[in-house]
Amino acid sequence: MASNHSNPPDTQLDINALKGDIPLVGLTGGIGSGKTAVSDLLGQLGAGIIDTDLIAHQITAPGGSAIPLISERFGSEYLDSHGALDRPKMRTLVFGNAQARQTLEQITHPLIKQETAKQAFTLAKSGAPYLVFVVPLLVESRTWVDLLDFVVVVDCPEETQIERVMHRNNMARSDVENILKAQASRKERLDNANAVIQNQGSLEELRREVQDLHEKLLKIKISSPGSS
Ligand code: ATP
Repeated sequence: MASNHSNPPDTQLDINALKGDIPLVGLTGGIGSGKTAVSDLLGQLGAGIIDTDLIAHQITAPGGSAIPLISERFGSEYLDSHGALDRPKMRTLVFGNAQARQTLEQITHPLIKQETAKQAFTLAKSGAPYLVFVVPLLVESRTWVDLLDFVVVVDCPEETQIERVMHRNNMARSDVENILKAQASRKERLDNANAVIQNQGSLEELRREVQDLHEKLLKIKISSPGSS
């Protein structure tokens, strides 16, 4: 279903304006659970995918919209030789420094929000049957939980997450375990789920589960804001 909304100017885009027009689905899961694998499959089936993690990387890539402000507030030493955010260096800075973390978030969050809304309006207009927002820290955010019509959690045992991320990112076990500890627990995520994708089998099994999910998402009933 195409949205009736014409695109307002970029500076005024607000995803809330899409509520009631098109189903808004959140897709979340812990690190390495398989969010990207699931969203890629849903995208192949025609869903409109907006990956907030990808957007966060794009705005901090060379020439990204966050780069001038990061350079101004933190200094060019926080950029690498290509002009991208030096992630390891910034991670070390913000790890024990709440003020620096807040400054970084004040720069990046509005830009991520704006780009997320822009992509959502474009996909809604293009006729996507529903929108999927891939949000790693979804259940940690009241704003997301309130906005969405439906939340899908990708789940697998923690040991599987750890093994996948160690293998994919060539990371030490203790580093992956520390990231896991900083995220919502498996139970907290599952408590917020309208549907759960169990991703502990083969990619072929995942494909079948995602096909079933897609059929379910095509039938989501949405209500206009305030009518529930
Ligand atoms: P992150 O939170 O780090 O962005 P993610 O939740 O998006 O991770 P993916 O990148 O989709 O997770 O999956 C993590 C790794 O595990 C990837 O290398 C992916 O190819 C692999 N993977 C995902 N699901 C399966 C599966 N069912 N079988 C085998 N490998 C898988």
